[in-house]
Amino acid sequence: MPRAYKKKGNKPTAHKAVPKIDGKAVSGGVMSAIRTTPLGIILIAGITFFYLEALPASFTSAIPTISYMILLFGIAITSCFNRSRGFFILLTLFLSQIGMVVTIPAHLDKIYAWHGIYLIISLLLPLNLLFFSSWSERGILSKWGQRCFLFIFLQVVFVMGLVLSGDKELFSEISKKLFFFTFMPSTPIPDVALVAFLLTGIILLTKRRRNNAHFKTTIFGALVAIAVAHHFNTIEIAIPFFYATAGLIIILSVIQDYYFKAYLDELTGLPSRRSLNEDMMKLDSIYTIAMVDVDFFKKFNDTYGHDAGDDVLRLIGKVMKNFKGGKSFRYGGEEFTLLFPGKSLAEATPYLEELREEVAKCKFTLREGSKIPKNANRKLSITVSIGVADSNQKLISPDEVIKLADKALYRAKENGRNCVSS
Ligand code: GH3
Ligand code: MG
Ligand code: MG
Repeated sequence: MPRAYKKKGNKPTAHKAVPKIDGKAVSGGVMSAIRTTPLGIILIAGITFFYLEALPASFTSAIPTISYMILLFGIAITSCFNRSRGFFILLTLFLSQIGMVVTIPAHLDKIYAWHGIYLIISLLLPLNLLFFSSWSERGILSKWGQRCFLFIFLQVVFVMGLVLSGDKELFSEISKKLFFFTFMPSTPIPDVALVAFLLTGIILLTKRRRNNAHFKTTIFGALVAIAVAHHFNTIEIAIPFFYATAGLIIILSVIQDYYFKAYLDELTGLPSRRSLNEDMMKLDSIYTIAMVDVDFFKKFNDTYGHDAGDDVLRLIGKVMKNFKGGKSFRYGGEEFTLLFPGKSLAEATPYLEELREEVAKCKFTLREGSKIPKNANRKLSITVSIGVADSNQKLISPDEVIKLADKALYRAKENGRNCVSS
């Protein structure tokens, strides 16, 4: 791809209004689908749970085993991908499920001991979710990972010690109502654990850092599934059923994470070069390809800094994501590609003119803390040049059409930029 364009033509000019970048991650169709997956899984699990009686008894009796298998599969998949946070949360869930169904030693009061385990796990699980989700990925076998293993081991020893000690007072202390009134009389979850669930939920929903938001949404979904499991603990299969739901939510999030990394560009949220390559293979005989390149972007970076440059790319990505005529991709750097399957050059060109105008109309606001030269305007405009070519119904490959579009882009730069050339 030719890169040494001649620097001439119009400079970016100030224009009327539109989108404002605030540095937040771009949200779009794929991302919102990813964000709503935990909710979808919980809804399906909830509906299935209430109709479980209608299913064959052999299926319901297999639920605890299936649940262990799902959690173990999650542990295996997170260790393969070295996803430490998901790994430790799944391990905690797995051990909790064992704790809930463990055979109580004969010398202990069975009902009382089980109730004790239920109370402590209800309190510890949300706190563990909060703890593990507040870190970034740090490796399973790293020093941090070893400390996490120790942390979980100590909790197991603690729970076992308490149950075996038969300290009735402590259990009644935990289950005692926290407030003068009963916090939620309709649930068996003790008040102190309810507070832990609520606190964890609020922190997960409010403290979602930009690159951690997806994981925290996942953990919030898992938290809701665990809360439902504990609420319905008197129904025998509720715990394994909803622990498995929480496990599925985490497993799916790991898979989605990898899809996101492989097929979506992290900065703009647009489909990446890999998606473009795959979509190019699916093209029929009639199609148009356009290459979009930001004008004077090096100068922009040099003047306002690389972070402001990144914000510009996000803004353009946002405009391109909402673009209806064709499918947008980030090609790499400050270059984007548009595919128009089934459209000829004449049909695609009006859309490209519209896109070019749309970008030029956007008023880009520099963030607080940006590198701003003296007397510079905080509100700037950016322009793009577009080169376009179609398959012309000849038997040429998409790679060749891209090369033609690239040559057309070169001409758009020579023609003064902020224009479409074919
Ligand atoms: P032209 O109008 O001819 O396209 O000029 P240009 O300055 O846009 O083109 P050139 O190829 O000289 O510079 C491209 C610049 O894009 C250089 C590089 O620093 C910047 N760039 C590429 N990728 C990124 C990115 O992800 N973020 C930021 N901020 N800058 C990027
Ligand atoms: Mg370029
Ligand atoms: Mg450029």
